[in-house]
Amino acid sequence: LQEYKLSNYIFWLNMKHLVIGNWKMNGTLAHASEFAQHLNEKLWQEEMLTQIILSPPTTLINYLKQNLDSKIKLAAQDTAVNKEATGAYTGDISAAMIKDIGCDYVIVGHSERRQYHHETNQIVRQKAEAVYAANMMAIICVGESMAEKESGSTCKVIESQIKESLPVSATPENTIIAYEPIWAIGTGLVATKDEIGMVHNFLNNMLNKERVSFAKRYKLVYGGSIKSSNVAEILAASYVDGLLVGGASLLWKEFWQIIKVVSEHQKIMSLECS
Ligand code: PEP
Repeated sequence: LQEYKLSNYIFWLNMKHLVIGNWKMNGTLAHASEFAQHLNEKLWQEEMLTQIILSPPTTLINYLKQNLDSKIKLAAQDTAVNKEATGAYTGDISAAMIKDIGCDYVIVGHSERRQYHHETNQIVRQKAEAVYAANMMAIICVGESMAEKESGSTCKVIESQIKESLPVSATPENTIIAYEPIWAIGTGLVATKDEIGMVHNFLNNMLNKERVSFAKRYKLVYGGSIKSSNVAEILAASYVDGLLVGGASLLWKEFWQIIKVVSEHQKIMSLECS
């Protein structure tokens, strides 16, 4: 029994929830400097049971790599579609270059890229392949629009996004899935616990059904108007392994508060398991 309890406890520690902060096109050196200073101090004072991943604009990755506590991992917000490390592609930044400046993750297929840069599922898939080729993890975003939600086609939309955006070489070791309903991004409208649970259940059935080992499941994170005040409700939905936070990740105090709520939740879960 003791052995069982211990392995369960280690399992929960290994299954850290993710808190991913997406700064989008925001942030100056001065902002990054203040943010890093405060977040580092907090991390040195308190042990967190979460994996924090920060996705600043590319201009700040190098600075944050040098100045943030190394427990915080970095993600780029996009990558060039090409697998080549270098080439005549003015304005593009390859996955290999992103890896070179210290990222371990890249967000691909964010709805803002799908909408403003006309990125199709096929482009998203090629970008994910470029991320794998550079030995990083892809955070692949999917989500339905308000019109799709209202017409009752949420699961159909998500299903085709998953089928078409995930490379055949995608595995839980190289890919995290972010469910971000478009209508909830930056709008203040948060999906309810039941709405999140319904989609995460659907994703779990689609991606993890055959996976016997719980530790080898695809991690499923939710994003859309997250604040420290709504985190507990979101985490109560089934199969939520973490959060993708946009606007609230720019404010260090609010971001830290979110991390704390997630960490507390994780602690309670690990106690329940022990
Ligand atoms: C996002 O951009 O991924 C996001 C979830 O934004 P926000 O939290 O601001 O809605």
